[in-house]
Amino acid sequence: MKYLLVLGVVLFAVWLWRHNRAGEAQDRADERARRSPPSAPPHAPVADMVACAHCGLHVPTGEAIAHQGVFYCSDAHRRAHNA
Ligand SMILES: [Zn+2]
Repeated sequence: MKYLLVLGVVLFAVWLWRHNRAGEAQDRADERARRSPPSAPPHAPVADMVACAHCGLHVPTGEAIAHQGVFYCSDAHRRAHNA
């Protein structure tokens, strides 16, 4: 019976040792992930640019104000150009 208790203690010690090693390996992996530089941010999709007919500012096509086939950077410039 005494040997069974010793065997149990030894098995527990081995389990504890392996458990700590697994935790240390995880800690090292976490540390490496923390130290590695962050991956480059994904590139924004490229938008077509058009020049404002009034001031020449380049704006994405989606943000430009189109009027009679001409693009403007803002509604104020569209009005100023057509005044
Ligand atoms: Zn403009």
